[in-house]
Amino acid sequence: MAAANQGLTTGSKGLQKSKAQTPRNPKAPIPLKNAAKVAPKSQGQSAHGSEADVAQMPKAKAARQSQKSPQRRFTPRTKKDVAAILEFFKSTYPNAKCGLSFKSPYELLMATILSAQCMDKTVNQATVKLFLRFPDAGSLAKASLSEVEDCVRICGFFRQKAKSLVDCAQAIVSRFAGQVPATLEELVTLKGVGRKTANVVLGEAFGEPGLTVDTHVKRISLRLNLSDSQSPDQIEIDLMGQIPKESWIEFSRQVIAHGRTLCLARKPLCPRCGLSLCPSRVAA
Ligand code: SF4
Repeated sequence: MAAANQGLTTGSKGLQKSKAQTPRNPKAPIPLKNAAKVAPKSQGQSAHGSEADVAQMPKAKAARQSQKSPQRRFTPRTKKDVAAILEFFKSTYPNAKCGLSFKSPYELLMATILSAQCMDKTVNQATVKLFLRFPDAGSLAKASLSEVEDCVRICGFFRQKAKSLVDCAQAIVSRFAGQVPATLEELVTLKGVGRKTANVVLGEAFGEPGLTVDTHVKRISLRLNLSDSQSPDQIEIDLMGQIPKESWIEFSRQVIAHGRTLCLARKPLCPRCGLSLCPSRVAA
């Protein structure tokens, strides 16, 4: 989701949590006994399976276990450094918002699935047509693939994404009474939904704390030494252990904004960046 949630357009506010009560999905992920197992397992894998593995582990417990693991030597940053980093992001990107346009958890979920390797702007163009024709999970669940493909054709990998959208909508209808579930554990059981997408939906649609580890958050976490892992799952766990929970949503938005404007992938604009304690600072 290179470009997902990077923009500064506003999302909807005041969205309500799903009240749907559903039986536990027999295919739901099994909790790991040790978070340290997450990193090697997810290396080089597609996001879906590996993300689901840690979905059911309580976040604080996962963070503690990760830091105690004898297999890792990662040293978290000091509280003072983390506070300075958070203050930098807060003051530099006070208005950072999700770049996807949506009016409901359903719309955000579908838009986020479409945003994988696709610019927010392109997704927003595609979803205007998509949501006009299929305003809720019920209507999308009954759609033909060709109809959905027609709506999202401008997005990369539109055939696979169209299938994911329909499969996801069908699961929402059959297992969650047509309402997008509001927990990470349930969200990651849906087709096309990994931890990254689930955390976007939790944070932006339901206001529930979630850390979105997309390409920008991953890159910047490594540059700031907030993690030393290549695994998004492990990075999320490392961040959970250092960033206060009440800052998770804003932190994700702000880091993504930083990745778009200054801390660029190929050539970070360090001379213009005020983060003096960054160990990866490149001289002008
Ligand atoms: S100093 Fe450079 S590498 Fe560090 S956060 Fe700023 S732009 Fe990124």
